[in-house]
Amino acid sequence: MLFGLPLASFVRGGTPTMAHERAVAEQEADAEKRRDIAAEERRIARVPIDQGGGKMYQQRFTATPGVPQAYVLLDYLTSRGEPMLYLGQPLQCLADLTISGEQIGSDGFGAHSQEMTLHIVCPACIARGMPQGQAQLTIRQSNKHWQLDTNGAGMPIIFENQAYSSAGRVVECERFRCPCGWAARIYNNKVRAE
Ligand SMILES: [Zn+2]
Repeated sequence: MLFGLPLASFVRGGTPTMAHERAVAEQEADAEKRRDIAAEERRIARVPIDQGGGKMYQQRFTATPGVPQAYVLLDYLTSRGEPMLYLGQPLQCLADLTISGEQIGSDGFGAHSQEMTLHIVCPACIARGMPQGQAQLTIRQSNKHWQLDTNGAGMPIIFENQAYSSAGRVVECERFRCPCGWAARIYNNKVRAE
């Protein structure tokens, strides 16, 4: 979930070639290494913001070092509005939220001139065995209309027994689609398939 790896290598509706599978394996190994570093970064970042934490806003794994970042915990729903299950459990995604542009304000989330990007995982790609590092969807505000309510930003999110800093709540996001064909909208941090 950390990295917006290019989706261009996806093979739609067909069998991946050997070269594609090799590329997938290599990229996943690379992503795995970066996730180890990220795990350590997150361990450090468990310090609450008001106690000198806030490293979440300075993550260094995107293409642009120092891009502010926080997280949104999303629940996935089926097209009927029921919890989407993965391995018997309701599927959730700790989505990364990055901000590009000039940072204004102490928390970095107030400025309208900045563009926010939401990085989420595609459940359909995960379901057909795509490594998580390559099942990424990048939703930019310049491409899709979506709104973040920053009430509650900075509050802890507990995900897989780790605490993360919340960016707030995705109030709504217009319909978006993965290259694999899966499509959804977001309302109040719920990703509903369409
Ligand atoms: Zn997909």
